[in-house]
Amino acid sequence: MALGRQRQILGYLRERQDDMVDLLGRLVSIDSPSTDKTCVDSLCETLQELWTDAGARTEIIKQDTYGNHLRAEWGQGTDQVLILCHMDTVWEKGEAQRRPFKVEGGKAFGPGAYDMKAGIVEALFTAHCLGDLGFTPPHRVVVLHNSDEEIGSPSSRAIIEEEAKKSKAVLVLEPSADAGAIKTWRKGVGMFQVRVTGRPAHAGANYEMGASAIQEAAHQILYLHSLTDLDEGTTVNVGTIRGGTRANVVAEEAVLAVDLRVKTVEAANWVIPKIMGLRPKDPRVTIEVTGGLNRPPMERNQRNLALFHLARSVGMEMGIQLTESGTGGGSDGNFTSALGIPTLDGLGPVGGGAHARDEYLLVSSLPERASVVAGVLLNL
Ligand SMILES: [Zn+2]
Repeated sequence: MALGRQRQILGYLRERQDDMVDLLGRLVSIDSPSTDKTCVDSLCETLQELWTDAGARTEIIKQDTYGNHLRAEWGQGTDQVLILCHMDTVWEKGEAQRRPFKVEGGKAFGPGAYDMKAGIVEALFTAHCLGDLGFTPPHRVVVLHNSDEEIGSPSSRAIIEEEAKKSKAVLVLEPSADAGAIKTWRKGVGMFQVRVTGRPAHAGANYEMGASAIQEAAHQILYLHSLTDLDEGTTVNVGTIRGGTRANVVAEEAVLAVDLRVKTVEAANWVIPKIMGLRPKDPRVTIEVTGGLNRPPMERNQRNLALFHLARSVGMEMGIQLTESGTGGGSDGNFTSALGIPTLDGLGPVGGGAHARDEYLLVSSLPERASVVAGVLLNL
């Protein structure tokens, strides 16, 4: 019975692959940069119509500064499962006209197609499929389309966390990892600014009176990079340095921008105090560090693995082999996993080149991945 059901789902969605591609083209044609409220709001309204057509109860969560968010809910039950699909992309307004959506050789191209408008298409067709085939998940499904994921979800984080706390699982329809792997972990992301203040002096007349912020920064940069532990998955990267005024002045100031990635909370708790507590080698220099963890790590824990095992068994019923992997990049799944809610990420299409001009997805993966999502929803 279960086997028959899963194959019916895949058959239904494969028959609608062209419709899925058409909808993807329509969504890609609506530019939605995180920083352009008018653009994202327009996509939000389109999605509200599409979800209403799919039989969902919808609510636009209005925002003043950032784009509006959409909450769509369907199905019944006291339990809840949360699906996350952000609407925003890293592409500016006008990009879809410069580089319009196209399909070539079984691949779909276009700004934001892979990351992650295809995930939105999957979510919508999953709802249509289960409704049309009369398969009812034993819980209600809440879909959140937020407008600001690509800039760290400043206005949607609290909403996501609130919905996640009410949910027994969270499915994130972000793009897959390499070769279609589903993501059971993501590194946490920290951002820090290090401001070094020394004493300026004439480099010729009063060199010894000066305390060089640049020399001090050089020591600190080497120390920061030495905190990297590739085996543990911890990386510390000073991405930019700025400092000094002229060659003949001992530099008064230097500023470093630091990126931190960690795989576990334990690693974060070990390395962050070291970054925050930088001490100058030259006692005449002061160091001020600001920042912290922007997204906590999504750890490869038993809760997330159990969800992956469910997805894998759903795939096996359809003859689709699913593998698991992780990434150094963060998503909204980091927030929900850190709350202790089982989270599975990378359920979006198979493809590559997120945030790059050669971004693409395999068209045939649209019905396949939507079938996996549908099967997971039914079996949770
Ligand atoms: Zn994304």
